[in-house]
Amino acid sequence: MNKIALVTGGSRGLGKNMALALAEKGLDVVITFKSNQAEARKVTDEIEALGQKAVGLQLDVADSKSFEGFIADLESALENKFGTKKIDFLVNNAGIGIHAGYAETTEEQFDLLMNIHLKAAFFLTQKVLPVLNDGGGIVNISTGLARFTSPGYDAYAVMKGGIETLTKYQAKTLGKRGIRVNTVAPGAIETDFGGGTVRDNKEVNQFLASQTALGRVGLPDDIGGVVAFLCTDDARWITAQRIEASGGMFI
Ligand code: NAP
Repeated sequence: MNKIALVTGGSRGLGKNMALALAEKGLDVVITFKSNQAEARKVTDEIEALGQKAVGLQLDVADSKSFEGFIADLESALENKFGTKKIDFLVNNAGIGIHAGYAETTEEQFDLLMNIHLKAAFFLTQKVLPVLNDGGGIVNISTGLARFTSPGYDAYAVMKGGIETLTKYQAKTLGKRGIRVNTVAPGAIETDFGGGTVRDNKEVNQFLASQTALGRVGLPDDIGGVVAFLCTDDARWITAQRIEASGGMFI
């Protein structure tokens, strides 16, 4: 029986890359999307072309009231598509970027970032636990911005800092079930994130590349394999860790 990973925000960007990398390692994959069903469908088609099973489910991680309904959708998808009742890995990846300086950040922006990044990692994971097999794992996606500062990412980085602390507590709590919990912290990566600034703004791209030991910004392919590795038996002794995949940004 193949292991199954659930990747939130798997329709685009890093989540898509993670989902494909997991499939390449022989896992079946459930991805979620917020609104982009067509893109999610392309990802599940690509996974099936690799010979793995895949399904895409709608989920707004900002809406914690919807989590119970989502778990019901997940359980029926597992039953119908995979012939099982449980998953093995959860990747808390879905997210957005809001660029606002400390003085300008509104409570609405703060609350949205908190709901999407921190509250979801806390409560969606809590709701997933009964359908997560013992011996499985959780990967929480943080950011290099939780280690170093960059103007305009104050609220966003605070939430990601919270995710990193949550990782340690989850690892301690779930270790008795053999569930490993780790953080992957990407540096700046060329995706749609934050309006696609890192990818589309040449000046920003070149500045970040100049501040990176390996001399360029990241691409989705730099991240998916790291997450997929953590969802294999080769990573069986790794838990409560923060792995930064940033090419050596701001060191
Ligand atoms: P992206 O290309 O913009 O993709 C975002 C994904 O999250 C999409 O699948 C989107 O679904 C989903 N999503 C957005 N809001 C959601 C919500 N409220 N509920 C459920 N799903 C939602 O972003 P990305 O670069 O892949 O970012 C993925 C993760 O990496 C985020 O946690 C981000 O903070 C983190 N990260 C990114 C970078 C970077 O430079 N790109 C660096 C460090 C960390 P739809 O397609 O349906 O909209």
